[in-house]
Amino acid sequence: MIPKETISSIFEASRIDEVVGEFVSLKKRGTNLIGLCPFHNEKTPSFNVSPVKGIYKCFGCGKAGNSVNFIMEHEQMNYPEALRWLAKKYNIPIEEEEQTPEQVIANNERESLYVVCSFAQKNFTENLWETDEGKSVGLSYFHQRGLTDEIIHKFQLGYSFDKWRGFSDAALKAGHKLEYLVKAGLTISKEAAENTPSGPPEQDRFFDRFSARIIFPVHNVSGRVIAFGGRTLKTDKKVAKYINSPETDIYHKSKVLYGLYFSKKKIVEEDNCFLVEGYTDVTSMHQAGIENVVASSGTALTVDQIRLIRRYTNNITIMYDGDSAGIKASFRGIDLVLEEGMNVRVLLFPDGEDPDSYSKKVSNTEFKAFIKENTKDFLAFKAQLLYNESAHDPIKKAGLIKELVESISLIPEPIYRSVYIKECSRIMDVDEQALLSELNKLRRKKQYDKPADKQESSSYETPEELLTFPEGEKVVQKIGVTETEHQEKDIIRILLNFGNDKLTIDNELEDGTKEPVEVSVTALVVHEIHGDLEFEVPVYKKLFEEFVLHEGEGLSSNYFTQHPDPEISATAIEILTSPHSLANWEKHNIPVITEAMLLKQSVLHAVYALKLRKLEKLIHDNQKRLQESSGYEEQVILVTMQKLLIQSKQSFSKLLGRIVLR
Ligand code: ATP
Ligand code: MN
Repeated sequence: MIPKETISSIFEASRIDEVVGEFVSLKKRGTNLIGLCPFHNEKTPSFNVSPVKGIYKCFGCGKAGNSVNFIMEHEQMNYPEALRWLAKKYNIPIEEEEQTPEQVIANNERESLYVVCSFAQKNFTENLWETDEGKSVGLSYFHQRGLTDEIIHKFQLGYSFDKWRGFSDAALKAGHKLEYLVKAGLTISKEAAENTPSGPPEQDRFFDRFSARIIFPVHNVSGRVIAFGGRTLKTDKKVAKYINSPETDIYHKSKVLYGLYFSKKKIVEEDNCFLVEGYTDVTSMHQAGIENVVASSGTALTVDQIRLIRRYTNNITIMYDGDSAGIKASFRGIDLVLEEGMNVRVLLFPDGEDPDSYSKKVSNTEFKAFIKENTKDFLAFKAQLLYNESAHDPIKKAGLIKELVESISLIPEPIYRSVYIKECSRIMDVDEQALLSELNKLRRKKQYDKPADKQESSSYETPEELLTFPEGEKVVQKIGVTETEHQEKDIIRILLNFGNDKLTIDNELEDGTKEPVEVSVTALVVHEIHGDLEFEVPVYKKLFEEFVLHEGEGLSSNYFTQHPDPEISATAIEILTSPHSLANWEKHNIPVITEAMLLKQSVLHAVYALKLRKLEKLIHDNQKRLQESSGYEEQVILVTMQKLLIQSKQSFSKLLGRIVLR
């Protein structure tokens, strides 16, 4: 492995004219150099080298690339070999990262922890099914809780003996090292004692973390056991009801969701994920036939856990106990999920019930019906709950409204924000404009907290603006995947070619007047798209993230063509050397007014086209939710949303039409 920083210095040092010049005789022509292509047979030179862009391109055979690509192609080397070749040419030392002894140990250690955990799971499971104590204590407890053998097997549940060192001794006997038992969190050692020669004798130095408990193994996404939770079977109030593995090298609590391995397929299929509190909720829901469910067991819900869910679906339904702690936890969860741009719904169980207990109380059919009827959109949920508290108290009501708007302000998608503001105004019976101005205040505050895009923010901040264009009539054809790809590429092409060019746009001030401001194309595009839209093609997404990250630095296209990530550089080179460029717009009968005018049109066209496509997707998703929804409040919201989405789709179509036709 060559360290990242070294790769960057190799790219920085390698000058394309020097590298190619070693093999091809080059002549100057304008700012470029030209020679006979080394990759195909030719008599007249069509091989171009651009020192400014750091790339080569043959207009005969089409080969193009940067210094590293040239060496790879010409010398038939792989990527690291080519890097080494260039490092040698430019005297850049490479501290070979070929797996230092520490890394080898670290990797082996992680592997050892997996092995120990896998052994432990089998051991606990064997205890449960094969021993008298396991059967009479553990298994009968599971049965008494109403779990079927099928579910007990599926989740690999187990039992740990009521012994000081039942597991640890078995593991040592099977040849596992005490060191790894401790590092995996299964065995607790009295470290201080271990380090003093006068400490207690060997047999007293360590003991099991889990004893006299039923065991829930925790699996990672690929199904390997990485940790455990254990519930005591003792009624002694002093004994903690649940204990969990500590953080280890293979178990990072904040990034793990209990049940994900068993549920991920169904989560994708159902396009929704139920989020519950604990182990037993997950197992009981599976038993009730609802298999798209995970728990944030052992920790409060984290952003990393939400992002983990987002890999599989955009929709989360939070299920909590109806007591006040559960409600509080659900509020926090709602805001976290909203902030990640996902849709969140909430289901509260009757006070004192959780998914586990309630699913045992009613039949599976009733349970499913209960979920269907009581799941609420977050706004309706929050509004209703808070409303009960503040019914006749204007001060409390104002506080409640503020809380609702705060949640809404976290939604990254302006159209959703707008819909929720309308709905909030309806439910709470307050002026929409007042809510909007509160929302804008919160959004602006948030924007100013991150310095990158504070400048032009206000002109696009009114969600109304997106929605008040006159009804359009132009029909937009269904936008498919290839079109998406094309549109995303178009944006990247504009950024690569014209990112540093300046445009003049109208910036709307607080009092409604407009003032012209000059911004770079990159700033405009980043501002229009970042936070609202996700790129779908991974490589364009990667490139766009680079523009977001370095917005305002005036990066040249070199930064991309010389990028250490070969995927980024190859794509940048491909785009920069393709003949399709801005000039193409002329073919669409756009009279060229000025270069700048054309550029502005192209930029806006590209951005609106992408947004339009996103809207299509939102409309489709919303339609689907509408079809599945049963609650009245929720349907009202969804129908309003659908109307507004279609309205703004028409506006964008119209905008797009104006740009192309003017
Ligand atoms: P009971 O039979 O008293 O209802 P329980 O085993 O169902 O006990 P609850 O107290 O109802 O446990 O808790 C509900 C869920 O919360 C459980 O499924 C458990 O996974 C989870 N839980 C509770 N405490 C902890 C804890 N300390 N660490 C991890 N998960 C916990
Ligand atoms: Mn319970």
